[in-house]
Amino acid sequence: MKKIFLAISKGRIMDEALILLKKNNIECDISPNKSRKLIFKTNYENLNIIVVRASDVPMYIESGKVDLGIVGKDTLLESNVDNYFFLRDLKIASCKLVVAGKKNKKLVSNMKIATKYPNLTQEFFLSKGIPCSVLKLYGSMELAAVLNLSDAIVDLVDTGKTLKENGLEKICLIDNITSHLIVNKSSYKIKKNEINKFITRISAQ
Ligand code: AMP
Repeated sequence: MKKIFLAISKGRIMDEALILLKKNNIECDISPNKSRKLIFKTNYENLNIIVVRASDVPMYIESGKVDLGIVGKDTLLESNVDNYFFLRDLKIASCKLVVAGKKNKKLVSNMKIATKYPNLTQEFFLSKGIPCSVLKLYGSMELAAVLNLSDAIVDLVDTGKTLKENGLEKICLIDNITSHLIVNKSSYKIKKNEINKFITRISAQ
C-alpha cells in the first residue's frame, strides 16, 4: 500500500476538514490542533496529513512533494499553478470573496484596493473594465479601508460581522468560496487506486 500525503491548512479549513474526515472514521494519531508537529499519521491505511500554510498548499501540490490538498477556491484562483487535477468540491469552509468598503462606496476607475489576493483582484477589475491599483497586505484588510489606506478591500466574508463592526459593507460579490480537494497530476497516475479509494471513503456520507 503506497503512502498518501494530504496537505491541509490550519484554521477554518483544518477544523472543518477534520470533522469531515472523522465523520468517515478517519482520525489523526494526535489532533493537529493540539500539536506543533507538521506531519500526522492517521488510522486510515497509509494516509498522512501535512500541516501547511493556506497559500503554500498549491506549491506543495505543484511540486508533487504532497499528493493531495484541501484548499480554498480563493487560494487556487490566486495561485498560478496548474500541475493538479480538481477532484471534489468538499463544500467546507464556505464563505464569499467580496469587494468591500465604507458605506455607499462604488467601483470606480483607479481605486486602490488592499488585499492578500493581488492576482485575482487585478483579474476581477480587469474583467469589469475598471483599472485599479493593488496594495498587498497580509492581515486585517478591514483596517486599510477604515483608515483610508485604500479605497476598498478584497477579502473573505463569512458572517459579515467583521465588516459590520468596522463600519464597512459589501460593494460586490466576486465569487462563492468553498474548499476543494486537489491532486498532483503524477500522483494521480501513480497512486490512482489509493486516491480513488480515499475519495470514495470521504464522499460516502
Ligand atoms: P466574518 O466576520 O465571519 O465575516 O469573517 C471575516 C473574517 O474572517 C475576515 O477577516 C476573513 O478574512 C476571515 N474569513 C472568513 N471566512 C474565511 C474562511 N473560509 N477561511 C479563512 N478566513 C476566513
